[in-house]
Amino acid sequence: MKSVCVLGSTGSIGLSTLDVLRINQQSYRVFALTANRNIDRLVEQCLEFKPCFAVVPDEQLAEQCRLKISQSAAAATEVISGMESLEFVAKHHDVDIVVAAIVGAAGLLSTLAAAQAGKKLLLANKEALVISGDLLMSAVKDNNACLLPLDSEHNALFQCMPAGYQAGQGAAGIRKLILTASGGPFLNKPAAELRNVTVEQACAHPNWSMGRKISVDSATMMNKGLELIEASYLFAMPADLIEVLVHPQSVVHSMVDYIDGSVLAQLGNPDMRTPIAHALAWPERQASGVSPLDFMLNKQLSFAAPCYEKFPCLRLAYEVLATKGSAPAILNAANEVAVEGFLNKKIRFTDIPVLIQQALDTSSIEPLDSIDTVLRVDRVTRELTMRNMESI
Ligand code: NAD
Ligand code: MG
Repeated sequence: MKSVCVLGSTGSIGLSTLDVLRINQQSYRVFALTANRNIDRLVEQCLEFKPCFAVVPDEQLAEQCRLKISQSAAAATEVISGMESLEFVAKHHDVDIVVAAIVGAAGLLSTLAAAQAGKKLLLANKEALVISGDLLMSAVKDNNACLLPLDSEHNALFQCMPAGYQAGQGAAGIRKLILTASGGPFLNKPAAELRNVTVEQACAHPNWSMGRKISVDSATMMNKGLELIEASYLFAMPADLIEVLVHPQSVVHSMVDYIDGSVLAQLGNPDMRTPIAHALAWPERQASGVSPLDFMLNKQLSFAAPCYEKFPCLRLAYEVLATKGSAPAILNAANEVAVEGFLNKKIRFTDIPVLIQQALDTSSIEPLDSIDTVLRVDRVTRELTMRNMESI
């Protein structure tokens, strides 16, 4: 039995993870679950999976959670609060596997704690890697952690890598990585109409059901931009060897193009339980609950180049990856604030790349020498972008 800590268990990835754990319950026990605000869902999960710990950062909400759990028959879970409690469960010596599924920079310290404690770390929280880059990759290497990507594209690339490949290593014989992108809900919408799109339209992804932040990122194609940076760190590849290819069906999850002309791809239905089941069981395989791919239903697989004019966020991500240092952290913080602003109807959809560009233009890029620097850059960029949002 492997002991699993699910950071962000009440979110979209968290729910898919618990689905896979439920199907394979003979192999796993849940050690800890965490939630930000959705206490009712967390309590339900605690009653079903009976973890040792449930973490709720806010003490008042944690108290509500304690009360609800103590009223039930299965009061086996201790509820703890404070952001540092996320790190406590992520590095706990009784944990084998940490699923990092908190959204945004808020997941950085707990993800890092899992790496520092040498855990098997299943990474969904791409923002943590985007902002901390080599610092997180070094923590993985120095502490013999095992980093496995859950993001479907990166999990696909990992599966197409040479045998024995470990995240962060270079691999010989690769010409380029091909990251596929669905293109999001606005792939075929004229650029001039993007100005007036609504939150509901932006969150209605054609192929994947996901949290609201990543849904908006998919609509701006910043998700692919973040994934480009994520792939660069995970696979030690420079920006010019990572190509983004629009593939609206989301069946080919990504490809590795080798120098001998072979292109290896991983295919499957667009369902996150496949990469989650793969990474949990790796190097073995286990059931995921995902239905088999039906080629008779998927006869048309099409590919096209992305449009950088219509989706400037993708261009910005290529630019910050060429610069590195604190640039990806600036891009990410400005994007998180702008997406939140759009979700709260404070700004237009097309203001998102404008705010990110402003943050990049007015911030000095510095080397990322420590996590304190990452946290400071993140905080300062958030403050700057909030101010810029007032005058947009
Ligand atoms: P979500 O919004 O559905 O869930 C987010 C989770 O994080 C929730 O459990 C929430 O309680 C927790 N959380 C949010 N803010 C927090 C905070 N400040 N402190 C502590 N916990 C907090 O998001 P999601 O779609 O599950 O995405 C999670 C991560 O996985 C993101 O980084 C996303 O980019 C990545 N990802 C998601 C998908 C997907 O299909 N949903 C696919 C690939 C990668
Ligand atoms: Mg993805």
